[in-house]
Amino acid sequence: MRIGVLAVQGAFLEHEKMLATLGCETIELRQLADIKNIDGLILPGGESTVQGKLLWDLGMFQPLRSMIRDGLPVLATCAGLILLAQHLVDDPVVHFGTLPVTVRRNAYGRQLGSFQQTAPLKGLGNFTMTFIRAPYITQAALDVDILATIDGHIVAARWQNQTALAFHPELGTDTRLHEKWLESIKTESALSAAV
Ligand code: GLN
Repeated sequence: MRIGVLAVQGAFLEHEKMLATLGCETIELRQLADIKNIDGLILPGGESTVQGKLLWDLGMFQPLRSMIRDGLPVLATCAGLILLAQHLVDDPVVHFGTLPVTVRRNAYGRQLGSFQQTAPLKGLGNFTMTFIRAPYITQAALDVDILATIDGHIVAARWQNQTALAFHPELGTDTRLHEKWLESIKTESALSAAV
């Protein structure tokens, strides 16, 4: 299995390291030629506006959006969640727009730059979450699976092939979330092979 990690800007190396500790092969997506033969996609944290622009400039935007729409498993963190969101609060910009949620950027304000909080994450139990100028989800379609909330705000959600997090599971040593995501890709591909 080979996971493509978007590597145009932001915290992509940390995801690669975590996947390497799990024995998973990764490829850095830096140009159009890189996006062939991937079984999953990681959209890392960083600056969503910059990432969105670079995706267009490098010719990766439309092919990646089609692949996500066609069911490519995606794990998006922070800026990645913003790239996937169908709507942003007070902002007409939409990037991929493939995830039926509304997201507030810098939702915790700029003063509260970063913080950690431990909260239950569906299927995994308590998980220590690191937030960095983080967004959160203000609204989600009815069929979106809410995986975690903090103070009533949605910080992790899954819809079909897309898992999106407001926090950074790649920082730190807890590999359970990446592990579970990789397992879900294996299960899905085994199911579709059986059909
Ligand atoms: N605030 C950033 C944005 O709006 C996201 C922050 C992050 O990815 N850590 O793109």
